[in-house]
Amino acid sequence: MDKPLQTSSRASKHGLSKKIEKNKLHKRLRRETGRAVDDFSMIDGGDRIMVCISGGKDSLTMLDILLSLQAHAPIQFELVAVNLDQKQPGFPEDVLPGYFESLGVEYTILEEDTYSLVTDMVPEGKTYCGWCSRFRRGILYTHAKQHGFTKIALGHHRDDIIETLFLNLFHGGKLKTMPPKLLSDDGENVVIRPLAYCSEADIERYSKITNMPVIPCNLCGSQDNLQRPMIKEMLKTWNKQQPGRLENIFRAMSNVVPSHLLDTNLYDFGDTKTVEKLNVVNLQP
Ligand code: SF4
Repeated sequence: MDKPLQTSSRASKHGLSKKIEKNKLHKRLRRETGRAVDDFSMIDGGDRIMVCISGGKDSLTMLDILLSLQAHAPIQFELVAVNLDQKQPGFPEDVLPGYFESLGVEYTILEEDTYSLVTDMVPEGKTYCGWCSRFRRGILYTHAKQHGFTKIALGHHRDDIIETLFLNLFHGGKLKTMPPKLLSDDGENVVIRPLAYCSEADIERYSKITNMPVIPCNLCGSQDNLQRPMIKEMLKTWNKQQPGRLENIFRAMSNVVPSHLLDTNLYDFGDTKTVEKLNVVNLQP
């Protein structure tokens, strides 16, 4: 007779602790997003923001948090969720419209069969992801221009930014990553990454605990190149061996001392005045 009571009290305790965890995660994600939006002046009053939704955990979390910020912001801005259905086999086309309607957010679903284009042009055995993403970006950016969007929001997070730094370092010989705010090459689109300060672990947990209808990005069976997963694994190992290392790397990106690097395009090292100035900087701790 006692057992059902114990089970139900355990279940209600579990429900309560899940609710507490969900609130904590929501608060942290909102705080970090607000901080990034502020630090990089991502959103202005009157902005019409195209929120790019792939259906993955990152973009769905970005939409959730931006809607929450919008509800409490002292300025007015518009959010429109935009998904591009690229006609990958197995893509569940009803999931996102149903979810957007449940949130009451304005949305647009674009349809372009880039999947057939990519499979036709990419040789057998090679990955489709590079071309697939290029087509996606082109279509979304054109849509933004044609429909008066002032900003394009992408769901990249802190871990994507750290991984990209190492990808560029190891494979591109460059010291750069994905900036939280960026003007496109043609100067027509402002791209923002509101989750720039949020960790992937928080996003993953939040998307699970809120039962977001996450659609995996590998339904088409293609695999992105293996460089990013390798970097991800390397960073995971480092973080296990020395907790806090990722935070340090991330902090370093906001604390750059260009004069202490070797880029002769930044400083004329042949100019005495420049070198004198650099020496002064060198004396500082
Ligand atoms: S996994 Fe498929 S849908 Fe995702 S980027 Fe690669 S090719 Fe495109």
